[in-house]
Amino acid sequence: MTLPPNVYDAEPIPEAALAEVTRILSSGDLFRYTNENSPVQLLEQEFAAFLGSKYALAVSSCSAALFLSLKALGLPRDARVLIPAFTFAAVPSSIIHADCIPVLCECKDDYRIDLDDFRAKLPDVQAVIISHMRGHTSDMDAIMEACDEAGIPVVEDAAHSLGTTWHGQNIGTIGKIGCFSFQSYKLLNAGEGGIMVSDDPDLIARAVIMSGAYEHNWAKNMGLKEAYERWQNQLPLYNVRLNNLSAALIRAQLPEIPRRVQDGRRNHDHVAAKLNRSAWISVPEKLAAENRAPDSIQFNLVGMGDNAVKSFAEAAAQRGIKVQVFGRSRDNARAFWNWQFLPEQVDLPQTRQMLMNACDVRLPARLTLEECDLVAGALIDAAEEVMGQPLAYGT
Ligand SMILES: *Cc1c(COP(=O)(O)O)cnc(C)c1O
Repeated sequence: MTLPPNVYDAEPIPEAALAEVTRILSSGDLFRYTNENSPVQLLEQEFAAFLGSKYALAVSSCSAALFLSLKALGLPRDARVLIPAFTFAAVPSSIIHADCIPVLCECKDDYRIDLDDFRAKLPDVQAVIISHMRGHTSDMDAIMEACDEAGIPVVEDAAHSLGTTWHGQNIGTIGKIGCFSFQSYKLLNAGEGGIMVSDDPDLIARAVIMSGAYEHNWAKNMGLKEAYERWQNQLPLYNVRLNNLSAALIRAQLPEIPRRVQDGRRNHDHVAAKLNRSAWISVPEKLAAENRAPDSIQFNLVGMGDNAVKSFAEAAAQRGIKVQVFGRSRDNARAFWNWQFLPEQVDLPQTRQMLMNACDVRLPARLTLEECDLVAGALIDAAEEVMGQPLAYGT
């Protein structure tokens, strides 16, 4: 019997990182501000250039980048920030960390923001964070049009969207600020880390200072002297810097991005086409303007009741494929009803319904198409084991 592929192992960090890590270890120069042109500063320059942004600031996580974004926007205490109800618990948490109040917006069963609910809630908020959850891009044309008209700043949570484009433009560069993650399950793996990009020099200067460029450490950063001097001593120092070792690991992976994006998309689309032939499984279409960079696949179970969904997950597990149904695993951090720390509890029936049937399976870029076939076959067989063969049409 052919064993199912291991979808959990990370890719090795490219060899090029080793020489640089050894150099850093032998000098002990781990702090980003000890020397100019430190690995962290070089990463910021390279990342901004790669995305087509003017500025980038590397920090300790994407959550820290989201928190700093809200602080750099100058939002007052108790400002209301709109987010999709389908996101990771760290996103509303970053809003609470910034002394603001998360407002949840309904999502549709294609995992993207429900624009009717978005437009209805927009007049009551001061900022918006668009989480492109699992790399699914919401309609950024409609969102930017509504937010620009209302004068509301948009922060893109592109933690899991590096390499995705919208009308050919990189995700994360459409809103005022874009935030990315270097946590191990994302496209670039440093264990932990994050980065924010923006074209606004004054905003990025505020973020640089608050990230922990104390005294005149900003002099070693991006040359925004005037903006820095304006904000010197005016802002708290939250100290969420990245260190040089993490930056060295990320820089070595930058040349890998195009391959990871391309292979991840190939694997996703290959499996999606197979799954969509099953009567019990539906993989939502991407939006027309979107070119995705997936490392996992999400799909909805069709016509299955509570027991069948449970049996399907068990049948897939028996075949060696772990399926997570977002709304059904205990304490899932992506199910909004588990965010009991929210100051305002609300129900969002449409998103709840979606989460009860939406499945998540990892599909790393390093899998071969043969391995992808095993994953798709196991899922289709599991659905048929539970639901039986669908009646053939036209016979
Ligand atoms: C991973 C992730 C985050 C959090 O990133 P960290 O770097 O772990 O803080 C936020 N939003 C989304 C959509 C994510 O996938």
